[in-house]
Amino acid sequence: MIPFYVAGRPTVGPENLTVRHPFDTSVVGATSLATEEQVEEAVAAAFAATGPAAALSAADRAGALDEISTRIRLRGEEFAQLITAENGKPLKWARAEVARAVSTFRWAAEEARRFSGDLQRLDTDPSAAGRIALIRRVPRGPVLGIAPFNFPLNLVAHKVAPALAVGAPIIVKPAPATPLTALLLGEIMAGLDLPYGMFSVLPIPNDRAAALVADPRLPVVSFTGSGPVGAGIRAAVPQKHVTLELGGNAAALIARDWDDLDFAARRIATFANYQAGQSCIAVQRVFVHRDHAAAFTPRLIAAVEALRTGDPRDEATDVGPVVNADAARRIEDWIAEAVTKGGRILTGGTRSGTTVAPTVLTDVPADAKVCADEVFGPVLVLTVVDDDEAGLAAIDDSAFGLQAGVFTRRLDLAFRAHRRLTVGGVIIGDVPSFRADQMPYGGVKGSGSGREGVASAMDDYTEPRVMVLTGI
Ligand code: NAD
Repeated sequence: MIPFYVAGRPTVGPENLTVRHPFDTSVVGATSLATEEQVEEAVAAAFAATGPAAALSAADRAGALDEISTRIRLRGEEFAQLITAENGKPLKWARAEVARAVSTFRWAAEEARRFSGDLQRLDTDPSAAGRIALIRRVPRGPVLGIAPFNFPLNLVAHKVAPALAVGAPIIVKPAPATPLTALLLGEIMAGLDLPYGMFSVLPIPNDRAAALVADPRLPVVSFTGSGPVGAGIRAAVPQKHVTLELGGNAAALIARDWDDLDFAARRIATFANYQAGQSCIAVQRVFVHRDHAAAFTPRLIAAVEALRTGDPRDEATDVGPVVNADAARRIEDWIAEAVTKGGRILTGGTRSGTTVAPTVLTDVPADAKVCADEVFGPVLVLTVVDDDEAGLAAIDDSAFGLQAGVFTRRLDLAFRAHRRLTVGGVIIGDVPSFRADQMPYGGVKGSGSGREGVASAMDDYTEPRVMVLTGI
């Protein structure tokens, strides 16, 4: 039985939680659910730790973050195998996730060393002559980090690392399908000399998580997950500082000037299907300029068909299963709905157990679910547009706004896209799926509010406290 962590201490509860492999439902391992009393202990300890944790020196915080980064790297293969086992993503993508988590913690260590607040002159107004403001950023209080299943390590890292960097205690609630990776991170953190109460990792049912969201001792909620759950959290605690990293239906445009269709086809095929499309910035919609349509379409189909589908534990597999049978059936239904609305399947469209074949659709109306909603599966919709401006308009015709990709080498089009698109980020010359862990990352509209990325989250977890110095 793998323990969970209450206030940094390994603990077990009376009710088991068995984790199964998404590919073949074999048992990966078992942990237990934290009881209401154990959750209460974690919250009380986090609340009590807020002062002492914030008083940790920058050297202590940065040192701990560097140490976590190193220990993840040293156990990297163990993490990768565990991620593949409980999440079902192919090993090569699991290894990529581990490498990113190593760098997320390392970057947080750097930011912890730099995190200094600000000094602001006030004598711009004669009435404030001789005054200056020293602005310190102090933790708002303990952070509640709620994580999804699709990046069970790095998205937990994106909550834990900035919290530790600013000296805020954190309670992590991992996704029910993938708690074991977060618990392995908990094991590493428990091996450090952190103050009691600094962190907890609690596998709990969603109603217990909802009670945690409502708990006034946890003023910051950092949620990554689906739109409806995020909206419920926002509505439940309007007075709290809530960051919502939600879903998307990310799009790419291949502009008229783009001259490397093979590259675009390869990148789009890969990032529509990586992790079986279960990424909030997986490519879901592709708009290709009419001049390229005839040459691009066969290249895209060939690139998608070159992907190997199968057991994610096999080194050669590119596309593994989706998270469970319900998700696979839903994706199959959405493909069928697109076809009844006039869509044509260019490749794929089949399902075997929890594995959906990488699918490319075309002639799909914009109101079909595979266009308008988040597929979260290996499904791509290809649409021809008459000009680049129409392509940008089509990208923006979405209830979501996380990231967009524009394949262009024209500076004016790049700036135009950056100005015009209502999204959190525009990737020029590549797919929307690019993310570096230090950059501000997040969405607008249905994709959420607030930003992650280590420095952005550190700002989010803290608030300015001003001291005005007089007579200087
Ligand atoms: P989900 O919303 O089903 O669950 C996310 C987490 O919320 C889980 O830990 C779940 O147990 C918990 N939860 C569920 N109900 C809750 C409640 N009432 N109160 C508190 N917590 C509750 O999402 P998922 O299926 O695990 O993840 C997939 C979703 O996450 C997709 O929509 C994807 O786009 C999104 N996502 C967004 C980003 C981003 O950075 N924008 C990154 C990854 C995933």
